[in-house]
Amino acid sequence: MPSPMRPGGGMRRGINSATILLTLLAAAFGYLFASRLGAFLAGRSGVTRHITVMNTSATIIIPADSGSSLAPARLAELAEQAMREIDALMSPVGETSDVKRLNSAQAETWVQVSPPTWTVVMEALRWHRLTGGAFDPTIGPMKSLFRFDQSETDDWPSASALASARDRVGADKLLFEREGMRLSFAKDGMKLDLGAIAKGYGVDRAVETLQANGVRNALVEIGGEVRSIGVNTNAKPPASWAGGIENPRGAGHLALPDIGDKALATSGDANQYFIHGGKRFKHIIDPRAGLPLGEGVASVTAIHPTSCMAADALATAMTVLGRDEGRVFLADQALGLFKDGIRVVMLLSGADGGLRRVDFALDNQGVMIETESEPAFVVPKAAEEAPQEEVRQGAD
Ligand code: ADP
Ligand code: MG
Repeated sequence: MPSPMRPGGGMRRGINSATILLTLLAAAFGYLFASRLGAFLAGRSGVTRHITVMNTSATIIIPADSGSSLAPARLAELAEQAMREIDALMSPVGETSDVKRLNSAQAETWVQVSPPTWTVVMEALRWHRLTGGAFDPTIGPMKSLFRFDQSETDDWPSASALASARDRVGADKLLFEREGMRLSFAKDGMKLDLGAIAKGYGVDRAVETLQANGVRNALVEIGGEVRSIGVNTNAKPPASWAGGIENPRGAGHLALPDIGDKALATSGDANQYFIHGGKRFKHIIDPRAGLPLGEGVASVTAIHPTSCMAADALATAMTVLGRDEGRVFLADQALGLFKDGIRVVMLLSGADGGLRRVDFALDNQGVMIETESEPAFVVPKAAEEAPQEEVRQGAD
């Protein structure tokens, strides 16, 4: 039962379930209570643009005081264009897609790809090496055996189908030739799947486009992978961008009050999963076991100081590694890869169905601190949800 694979995963994620809830609220409050009149009088206002790209929802927030001489609406267009370019190159479908061309080619046929696709594939291979294979951009054939549509099902692929998929998964069988930026598969039936990393890259490209046009304050999000720069000048006084982690098992979110000038990505099973034998299986696959991950890690949020692509890959990798292997991985990388400091928030689901929160924080000395706590989800009152709609209508 194949399901379509897209950089955004197989299904649209609802906008209000993304990790930017608080950010939207903050933007909305600023917009509603302070900026509207002032911005109107000044002849310009901020823009919040909601679009569908990479098979998921995306948001671009350009506050009135973005720092650029271009109008916020024009800047939002440019950021959107940057995202659409990445989508067109890395989607599993479409005439212009490098991924589609590679996936349709026979084994041992070289396929030249564009520089952005090359960059993302090289980064994905780097994460594959770093994580000992837990992160694998050739996971496609295993993912295609399942349908992550939130249904309850008795179906399970046959042993031979599982074995055949295993045979066609493995980043060591993705061959590359640096000169000419060419890729090929060592085996027929392999599939490149950039779903765990392309959204983060799309966010980075959109932010870089904005920065190249003089923007100092903005927030960009694709399917819950977020990067913000500067401050939210729609809030009066201007406030640091805030975010949140969705409760993967119920209402509310965990507040992350300060994600300003950082990238944040969440991998989880809130939206893409199926139930089999009373157990929940998510769309993240353990390539070593050759099976989708079950309960255990309900969600992982990674916060990286500069790169949403790295945050995206790290969130997926930590989901596969889990708490114990994940701790070792983070500690091993502490002085190299993560020397600028990163944070990981893991929500673990216990046998009783309850959630525990584990925070890993690496300071810039490379010291890792692990803390465990009860997650304290904030459930906004209905009245506080209303401004979210307002910001959409008012600024789209
Ligand atoms: P989301 O799309 O919800 O943000 P992720 O960033 O973790 O979540 O991406 C999950 C997607 O990545 C899956 O739908 C699949 O396409 C792909 N994927 C699944 N397992 C792996 C893995 N072990 N390594 C790399 N990519 C994976
Ligand atoms: Mg990811």
